[in-house]
Amino acid sequence: MKRILVAGAGGFIGGHLVKELIKKGNSVRAVDLKPLNEWYQVSEEADNLVLDLRLRENCYRAANGCNEVFNLAADMGGMGFIENNKAACMISVLINTHLLLASRDCGIDRFFYASSACVYNGEKQTDTDNPGLKESDAYPALAEDGYGWEKLFSERMCRHFSEDFGLTTRVARFHNVYGPHGTYDGGREKAPAAMCRKVIEAELNGKREMVIWGDGHQTRSFMYIDDCIKGIQDIMYSNINEPINLGSSEMVSINQLVDIVEDIAGYKMERKYDPDAPKGVRGRNSENTLIKKYLGWEPSIPLKEGMKKTYDWIKEEIEKETKDKKGISRFNK
Ligand code: NAD
Repeated sequence: MKRILVAGAGGFIGGHLVKELIKKGNSVRAVDLKPLNEWYQVSEEADNLVLDLRLRENCYRAANGCNEVFNLAADMGGMGFIENNKAACMISVLINTHLLLASRDCGIDRFFYASSACVYNGEKQTDTDNPGLKESDAYPALAEDGYGWEKLFSERMCRHFSEDFGLTTRVARFHNVYGPHGTYDGGREKAPAAMCRKVIEAELNGKREMVIWGDGHQTRSFMYIDDCIKGIQDIMYSNINEPINLGSSEMVSINQLVDIVEDIAGYKMERKYDPDAPKGVRGRNSENTLIKKYLGWEPSIPLKEGMKKTYDWIKEEIEKETKDKKGISRFNK
């Protein structure tokens, strides 16, 4: 039985990964900075620890006795968060640096790092009709300021720990992941969850107006969590030594994403566009030639299918929250 450390286990992707690794018979140490009652999912079978992994000694404590490490811990959020918290995003470099050192010194066999499509050169993302970002498009480097630069630096650190110290490292560049058991409010949420929440709240309030950041024509692709969890494991246990895209290639505009949510809800909104809100790049998509070549697979769960599951979960959560407040719900104020 392998003992596996999942860093960032209280978060969206980490919570799903812990569950899956336990289901496969592994012994898991789950670590996060947040108090346990704030984790999206807590697996009782895991060794659950609350530790700040920016600190070197905590990384050694977390990695000690493990065979493998998945690093999904980062101070991050959607575009609204990363545009306004660049320094906080960059401080996550301490987490990966100290986890790599601990992994080298504790005899870890394999190390996975969660990178992002935000490493890609901004000049290759100026058109809504993006042909797909291939892995080589990260250089010459012009990453998303703050968050993207930290990811690019940490990717390279993985590469050099591999070359200089013989630590087996794997790096996946995630493109927008969505699904149940993730952030949907509070300022760190990403577009799919934010759209679901806005439509659900509008319906509960009997309102129709919805604010959309930018002009709604900006494009992205969105990967459902089940594809992400499969991809993480397939990449971890592969021979892929270079950073690789892990994302859907089903590109849509933000307006099309809202159309999908409206169809699921059966509720039409009046759209108000805010040109001054954080928008990120104009167009982004995942180019999947490399992952198909290596794994014979690419993320393929249709957006409509994944969004239905996400919408249903967020609706349930909001309804629970409303009920818990025993009638003094935020929707009745
Ligand atoms: P998340 O915010 O839900 O999870 C990250 C977790 O890391 C949080 O629970 C947070 O408390 C924890 N964390 C932050 N600082 C910590 C610290 N000092 N010590 C210990 N834990 C700490 O985010 P997520 O969506 O699950 O993302 C997981 C990883 O994937 C992150 O590295 C993120 O940058 C990357 N990523 C995610 C997406 C996406 O669309 N969700 C896209 C690209 C990359």
